[in-house]
Amino acid sequence: IQQIDALRRQIEISLKGDAQPPPILEFSNCKFNPKLQDNLTSAGYETPTPVQMQALPAALKGRDVLVSADTGSGKTLAFLLPIISKSCMIRMWHLSERAHPLAIVLAPTRELAAQVEEQAKALAKGLPFKTALVVGGDAMPQQIYRIKNGVELIVGTPGRLIDLLSKHDVSLEDVCMLVLDEVDCMLERGFRDQVMQIVQALYQPQIMLFSATIPPAIESFAATILKQPLLISAGRPSL
Ligand code: ADP
Ligand code: MG
Repeated sequence: IQQIDALRRQIEISLKGDAQPPPILEFSNCKFNPKLQDNLTSAGYETPTPVQMQALPAALKGRDVLVSADTGSGKTLAFLLPIISKSCMIRMWHLSERAHPLAIVLAPTRELAAQVEEQAKALAKGLPFKTALVVGGDAMPQQIYRIKNGVELIVGTPGRLIDLLSKHDVSLEDVCMLVLDEVDCMLERGFRDQVMQIVQALYQPQIMLFSATIPPAIESFAATILKQPLLISAGRPSL
């Protein structure tokens, strides 16, 4: 335990919450599907960044997390890798016969959502993992068609996803992971009610919140939607 604490200090990670999983030092410690590990390596990702070292094992264990780390610290992989890894297991073991979405990532802007979707597609090349981008400005019928044909991940902005859910019977009953990326920005833009509506449409999902900063509004928001959360902060003074 002292060694783990020393390691966390060394990589500048602080944690709050029960049952804290030890950080990983190599992506190989995550035991990803070999194809996913290959894709990571060929994309040039050799070692995890500090936030990934701590957030990956927590997310892979199914924990709800609130993660704060500076812009550019690698938060995207910290949620995409667990989503891709778990979704592929669910599909390969046929744990769900239906081709309904398994995960949702919400982002505050369409540009950010598009970037996240691009990265997910690149990481999941060759795997049974499809994505749909659900943002304003793009044609909704095509977005719906894509989802109904079977996708594992929906990446979108809250407003457009609500529109789509209210007008069409896209089933979210298999969604078991929800990520709110740049949640600080999302609340500043007034998306709180829409996000809550989406949370309430899901059945006990694992929820992961990512943010550059944790103002008090985020802490209280997190307390209302997360179950026994782990608070992870990288590269800043202890929580
Ligand atoms: P954040 O969301 O925290 O602002 P990103 O996830 O956008 O950061 O990552 C920032 C940059 O770092 C991206 O170009 C990404 O490809 C790169 N990156 C992320 N993780 C790693 C890693 N483990 N090794 C090398 N580069 C990485
Ligand atoms: Mg980011």
